[in-house]
Amino acid sequence: MRTEHTDVVVVGTGAAGTAAAVTALEFGKQVIVCEKNSAPGGATNTVIVVRVIRDDPEFVEKAFLIHMEMTRWLGNAPLVRNWIEQDAKLEQWMREHEIEFQINYVTTLDNLGKQEDPLGGFPKGHLIAERAFLRGAGNGHGGVQLVRTLLKRIEALGGQVRRNSPVTSLIREGGRITGVVVHPKRGEAYVIRAKAVILATAGFNDDAEMLRTYSGFDYTLDRTGTCTQGDFFFLWPCTKLDGSGIRMAWEIGAKKGAMGVAPFAHIPGPGIIGKVPWNTESQLRIVQEQPYLWVNQNGERFMNEGIITDHFTSGRVIANQKGKCAYLIFDEATKLHMEQEGLDYTYFIFPASHLTDFDGDLERVRAKGNRHVFVEDSLETLCEKTEIPLDNLKETLERYNAYCDQGRDGQFGKPARFLRPVREGRYYCFRIYTTAYQTIGGVKVDGNTRVLDGEERPIDGLYAAGDLIAAELYGEPPVCGIGNAGIALCTGIIAGRDAVRRMEGE
Ligand SMILES: Cc1cc2nc3c(=O)[nH]c(=O)nc-3n(C[C@H](O)[C@H](O)[C@H](O)COP(=O)(O)OP(=O)(O)OC[C@H]3O[C@@H](n4cnc5c(N)ncnc54)[C@H](O)[C@@H]3O)c2cc1C
Repeated sequence: MRTEHTDVVVVGTGAAGTAAAVTALEFGKQVIVCEKNSAPGGATNTVIVVRVIRDDPEFVEKAFLIHMEMTRWLGNAPLVRNWIEQDAKLEQWMREHEIEFQINYVTTLDNLGKQEDPLGGFPKGHLIAERAFLRGAGNGHGGVQLVRTLLKRIEALGGQVRRNSPVTSLIREGGRITGVVVHPKRGEAYVIRAKAVILATAGFNDDAEMLRTYSGFDYTLDRTGTCTQGDFFFLWPCTKLDGSGIRMAWEIGAKKGAMGVAPFAHIPGPGIIGKVPWNTESQLRIVQEQPYLWVNQNGERFMNEGIITDHFTSGRVIANQKGKCAYLIFDEATKLHMEQEGLDYTYFIFPASHLTDFDGDLERVRAKGNRHVFVEDSLETLCEKTEIPLDNLKETLERYNAYCDQGRDGQFGKPARFLRPVREGRYYCFRIYTTAYQTIGGVKVDGNTRVLDGEERPIDGLYAAGDLIAAELYGEPPVCGIGNAGIALCTGIIAGRDAVRRMEGE
């Protein structure tokens, strides 16, 4: 096999891979980046916002403690510490690398970890950072701009980016990784010998078997979201992430790390599932997150609907319900309230003050044959169509409406502003399942992202960054794990820097 030589091979061109490559190049090393697809960027192309921690020792200290308490100290503490310290430099790093963004959410030390975002919620443990909204590029999201900018920088620094070049195995000699085998889509396989290899291949969204085995859920890769099989449906299997990086690492003796998925709740089916990138315009997308009345297939409430703002948690809670689904139900009065008085809650990525074309969106979705959206004049027909037991639903409504009248949720303690009764038809109802952004985790690493072997010793020359190790930060099983673009950038930088330092004998 033909053999080439370089200092660092980076596998993958998402946030983690590009950040790692740029870092090693800036230290003067030679870098070859291999990307299996013709289009670079992986899931990073879908990113809208990057979390950045305030560059202030007090913020860093507090953010670290909040994160570790959220994971009950089960996250990989040295890695969390390094990530958080690097994250505090991330805003500056992005500016220096000409990534365009705007900080739109500024927090205070006092409110770190506890404040609900005035624009809408986010997992509480995530409220340790500010938000850098990336400027979109072309028809895409800001992640596209981020990837393009970093790729340009790699090439300007003399790095090589090879598309259509899947890495299929790692070469291990003794305790050390000395290179990779590349099987380009056209042409012969070849070897690249390197002093360090940084795996930034993300997850296994597109591998049904791995999903079933390692996610803790029975998945379906059903792309139309009809939810006829499995616990979950995947909204973005299009990223073609097949877990190859994880498997390659395991094959040469890397230890399995924490693994999981980053779930959230979504109406499946035609008309509502956005194309990639996100369908940010759909009014149904806005309404489907409203923390009004949610019931399960038995017609019973099962959560404080206010936690819908925490996508990770609410996604898992819904997957645990009978039929793996939930129903959001509201009546005409609440619809009018959202149109005329305004929304009580919006997820920060879909900001809107009022509903403006809810009926139009509803019609469009129903015309496409979506089976998960219901509009009914009576509870009887609603229950017939959803197969929710009528008596149970009536009982739930009676109890819930009484809480609304009292202005206090005596059952689950939901904030009073989300208590809106469901009294008279028309009734609007969405059937909502759990889906996922991406999978997280795969290999175990140390605090500097060095991949560990079965004995938990670092494998010389092998690093992993990004979603591939994100679950390490959140415990086993991970208690959170969405919004990982900042983690991908930071762990990429950490990997690139540590690889160079060790190469230079520091
Ligand atoms: C719809 C959606 C929206 C999101 N929005 C946000 C957001 O707003 N903010 C946020 O922080 N996070 C967000 N995330 C999460 C974020 O996208 C990821 O955490 C982040 O992009 C992970 O970066 P990565 O570099 O690890 O992986 P990726 O960006 O997925 O890159 C992995 C790359 O490796 C390549 N690859 C895989 N195997 C091989 C191989 N064998 N050989 C060569 N190349 C290979 C892939 O083709 C891909 O290009 C979102 C995710 C989704 C799905």
